[in-house]
Amino acid sequence: MGLIVLDLEWNQSSTGREPEVAKLPFEIIEIGAIKLNEEYEMVSEFSELIKPIVYPRLYHITSKIIHIQMDELSRGGKFTTISDKFKEWCGEDALMCTWGPSDITELQRNLKFFGKELLNDGPVRYIDVQKLYALSFDKDPHNRISLERAVDALGIEKDIPFHRAFGDAYYTAKIMTKIAKEHPEVLKFVSFDVTFPPKTKEDEVFIDFGTYSKQITHVFKNRESALTDKSVMSIVCTKCGKPIKKRIGWFSPNGKQFMAAGVCDVHGLIKNRIRIHKYDDDTVCVIKIVKPIENDGLIRLQEKSARAEELRRKRKEAEKKAKEFERKK
Ligand SMILES: [Zn+2]
Repeated sequence: MGLIVLDLEWNQSSTGREPEVAKLPFEIIEIGAIKLNEEYEMVSEFSELIKPIVYPRLYHITSKIIHIQMDELSRGGKFTTISDKFKEWCGEDALMCTWGPSDITELQRNLKFFGKELLNDGPVRYIDVQKLYALSFDKDPHNRISLERAVDALGIEKDIPFHRAFGDAYYTAKIMTKIAKEHPEVLKFVSFDVTFPPKTKEDEVFIDFGTYSKQITHVFKNRESALTDKSVMSIVCTKCGKPIKKRIGWFSPNGKQFMAAGVCDVHGLIKNRIRIHKYDDDTVCVIKIVKPIENDGLIRLQEKSARAEELRRKRKEAEKKAKEFERKK
């Protein structure tokens, strides 16, 4: 299986008023990619410009950042033609590698918008090189730095310009090679793009990374139905997959994530975390991370839970006061 290191440039609306804005916020105008073989050697290149048709005027910030002019783009091909050519060049079962998560999202959205076959009609498995860089070379595994900063930090020679699709794919490929050679242990941490959710229970994603596991559930008709689903809300253990004894019930520190913890007789303390991914039509899918923790992790979680509870109480009090105030008026 080959690796395709991909980078895209895109354009957006200059006015924000076109009817297409919601469905296609970003229109791809350039695809650059490098194919790596199993030894992580660059074996093939892809570089094509696309003439934009939804947003035919180049957004001023886009042209500033990517040094591309409209007359150059007007010589580009149609997205439908170039994306076919790109897929053929990629070949079967290619695993995409990108700097950060947005390129796969925008590629899926553009394929859908222009009526082309998607990379996958559900979650797309890919390698987020920016994430692997942080896991390999940064003290903070959640730190996300720019491509150029990573290139500088690794002392990679800057022989072609940045901010064009091919150049950025080229540098991402160089970093990917360095990660594979120096930190092969992080390569298993693949990512999943959920621009399109798993349709049924059979399509759900479940992956065990060893140190934690990740589940991407099928699509639910709304947030409430996800948050009342038994399999979503049961607190489980990574290793045996069985429900465990609750130690901290579900709470949300920010309204976006929910956390809980429990103890498995065999595997000890386990933290569960869920994140709701919402779609335009109000449907959602849930991403559930299950991870063993130590006692200090449980204490930190208890503190977070207490803070969340305190916030909830204060909010309720404020609401009550506001209502009383309304009544008195
Ligand atoms: Zn267990």
